[in-house]
Amino acid sequence: MPLSFSQFSSYLRCPRQYEYGYIKKLSKKISAGESFGSSIHNALKKWGEHEMVTSNKQRVTSNQLQLFIEDTPSSPQLTEDTLLELWHSSFIVEGYETRVEADMARLKGEQIMRFFYDWWQQQEHSVVLVEKGFSLDIQGQTIKGRFDRIEEGENGLKIIDFKTSAVRSQHTVDADLQLSVYALACEACLEQPCAELAFLFLTEEGMTEVATQRTPGQLTDAKKQIVHLQGRIAEGDFHPTPGRDVCRGCPYRGVCDVAAV
Ligand code: SF4
Repeated sequence: MPLSFSQFSSYLRCPRQYEYGYIKKLSKKISAGESFGSSIHNALKKWGEHEMVTSNKQRVTSNQLQLFIEDTPSSPQLTEDTLLELWHSSFIVEGYETRVEADMARLKGEQIMRFFYDWWQQQEHSVVLVEKGFSLDIQGQTIKGRFDRIEEGENGLKIIDFKTSAVRSQHTVDADLQLSVYALACEACLEQPCAELAFLFLTEEGMTEVATQRTPGQLTDAKKQIVHLQGRIAEGDFHPTPGRDVCRGCPYRGVCDVAAV
């Protein structure tokens, strides 16, 4: 059975959370944090698509094939106002307890979009794809996931993943399994090695990019880790790993008898 990286993430946070969500399939409400993250991803997906249309137009123009410009999809100017419009049209109201909470999230998102625009303006971006699903085979097991954004950099492909959670340390990002899976998927699906990976943390305090790379040895270790996790899931090892941080964000804490909050 194919597993998504979201499932692995859930299992890594707490095996019982995985059991509740994917084995017992307990229903859960979308949280405000999940809703906000989806809104941010939707807005930046549309922005990335506009970037790709704009760069295609420029490419056609530089080839002096202006006649074809009329056939390309229309795209607005890549301005901060456009990005803010995309944010407001992408905002998902579901998940918030009150109208005030939703309005606060809208304002927070506006600030994040401004930070993103400042980051984006600092350098040229050649977008290869945005919000693209992938399917990766590791020793006969299929893992499904989704790239947020891939750019063509000076040294090759750069995978960027957007996070609305707290900034993680360089050490944590260097060892992150999700990024290793992305690097493996890049090689397998795009048939090109990944030169660089980065988490782009989008918070009210500002934008923080934490970049990293993967060696062939690290990718081999990541495959072993995935196979090991798959084995534990197949054996039904759902031993809970409660902790204040993980339980506070767990949608099943109301039914879990070992919840730490
Ligand atoms: S409440 Fe805590 S221990 Fe229970 S399933 Fe959720 S994360 Fe695991």
